[in-house]
Amino acid sequence: MNKINALDRLIKALKVLPNVGPKTAQRMAYQLLQHNRADAAELAAAIQHALQHVHHCRCCNTLCEEELCAICADENRDQTRLMIVQMPADVASMEEARCHDGVYFVLMGQVNPTQGMDLSHISPHQLLARLESSRITEIIIATNFTAEGDATAYVLAELLSRFPLKISRLSRGMPLGAELEYVDSGTLAQAVYERRQINHT
Ligand SMILES: [Zn+2]
Repeated sequence: MNKINALDRLIKALKVLPNVGPKTAQRMAYQLLQHNRADAAELAAAIQHALQHVHHCRCCNTLCEEELCAICADENRDQTRLMIVQMPADVASMEEARCHDGVYFVLMGQVNPTQGMDLSHISPHQLLARLESSRITEIIIATNFTAEGDATAYVLAELLSRFPLKISRLSRGMPLGAELEYVDSGTLAQAVYERRQINHT
């Protein structure tokens, strides 16, 4: 049996992080073990703690510690307008821009046909279940303005076409290639206010 040594195991584990290749993982491992042993212990403990306590919100699929996240638990939110975003960071951006007082659904991913990432990467069953039991009348698709974001929006529009809902997408005022997370609040708010309907109801 091949027994992997401790250092190689750590380097291999670090490679699961986005944009971290073998060289970077190696540098991180040396740094943690040589200069930051206390921080490394805290990092390991924080990951362990998060794994035990963080899970998906029953309603919107974002990550939270309670059964319902703070937004889903807030009865003052407009329950008729659902904004679909890719990641929890996008919810934070929208909340900061104060341009959506409805509720959210977080895909936790995107579709990327060139990399074989299909519908299964965006929690379709949770989304459909969310729609079956709700008062939603409008869906705002707020995916990134990247090739993957466009592909995801297209797939979502297809998936949701059987529901008698108004479906809109953020306006094209967004810079091409923009990820919502990095767009300033003013531009984001403008894109939400000027959203365009993409189906006919
Ligand atoms: Zn929630």
